[in-house]
Amino acid sequence: MAQTIEVGVLGATGMVGQQFIRLLEGHPQLKLTWLGASDRSAGKLYPEACSWRLDGPMPAMVRGLTVKECKPAGAPPIVFSAMDASVATEIERAFAEAGHWVISNSRNHRMEHDVPLLVPEVNALHLALVKQQQANRGWKGGILTNPNCSTVGLTMGLGPLRQFGIQRVLVATMQAVSGAGYPGVASLDILGNVVPYIGGEEEKMQTETQKILGALGDGCIVPLDAKVSAHCNRVPVIDGHTVAVSVEFAKDPGMDAVRDAFTRFRGRPQELNLPSAPTTPVLLVDDPTRPQPRRDAMAGNGMTVTMGRLRPCEVFHYKFVALVHNTIRGAAGAAILNAELLLAEGYLNA
Ligand code: NAP
Repeated sequence: MAQTIEVGVLGATGMVGQQFIRLLEGHPQLKLTWLGASDRSAGKLYPEACSWRLDGPMPAMVRGLTVKECKPAGAPPIVFSAMDASVATEIERAFAEAGHWVISNSRNHRMEHDVPLLVPEVNALHLALVKQQQANRGWKGGILTNPNCSTVGLTMGLGPLRQFGIQRVLVATMQAVSGAGYPGVASLDILGNVVPYIGGEEEKMQTETQKILGALGDGCIVPLDAKVSAHCNRVPVIDGHTVAVSVEFAKDPGMDAVRDAFTRFRGRPQELNLPSAPTTPVLLVDDPTRPQPRRDAMAGNGMTVTMGRLRPCEVFHYKFVALVHNTIRGAAGAAILNAELLLAEGYLNA
């Protein structure tokens, strides 16, 4: 019988918080028993505090739960964080200090030198950094993070190719409106339009990618020594970020080797058969009209990143398009996979 552990969600009323609730329904190891949000919601029953915006009904398991203030007393050992970044720094730290494991989507702690920034198929070894974090800070708990939603699509595309010596990457994104939370971008700004600016997003894609593809050093990550340049755009799509990538290697590995690297790619989650791990983490398709957000975002229950349009690049070596479900693989599903990795690697027992 698999170990079952109680979990909570900080920021349970938001877009990502709701995805957590949906994905945790019927989870074989993680039992959702605790919900936290702002003092606007605390003290209310979840259905009163939350306007449910996902397809399908609100899961029954949360209908009777009262939303709590985001304070550690009485919270379960693992909390997923989907809080607004303006408040996440202090609250996440308070939970970790009090001995909880905080598995966060927020950007606040991602780039701290002893905080793992995980895409488990690509850098599961970086999880070991939490031991350093606990030693540095005297904590029994810890903070693990997953990257920005577009960075997940980019690094799932670059992870299989790291073996060829990545030198330079140029990436342009077309990002869905659900990436901005609710109510997010005003309809008058986005309908029939493209907004060529998402505050802070390009910098995050550049630095987070270098950390994720970097090597585990002595108590920190040595970032990948490759240049990454990003253009980030908001487009009128509901779910699914499209990421168009050109990449240059130390030397041309050849198209067959690149194709082979994508199709054979598997990681630690597949090896450990983690409950949320897609069988095929990267799905390479040959139809030149795919991937498309509406048709491909839910591949592998939203956990598979679909790749297409793989072809030679006239400036760098190769180019391709990746499609990632931003609130599942780019947020809640990614964090749940991180929690499953933490359990499977025995960190909770330790
Ligand atoms: P959202 O829909 O705006 O939800 C924000 C959540 O934070 C709500 O539950 C809100 O609770 C809570 N909150 C606000 N102020 C708080 C406070 N003072 N104390 C405790 N909780 C507070 O945002 P979202 O899109 O779900 O994003 C959540 C986080 O995930 C952000 O940091 C975001 O950058 C990150 N993220 C989002 C995506 C995505 O695709 N959307 C992807 C990756 C990462 P109330 O309802 O009570 O106000």
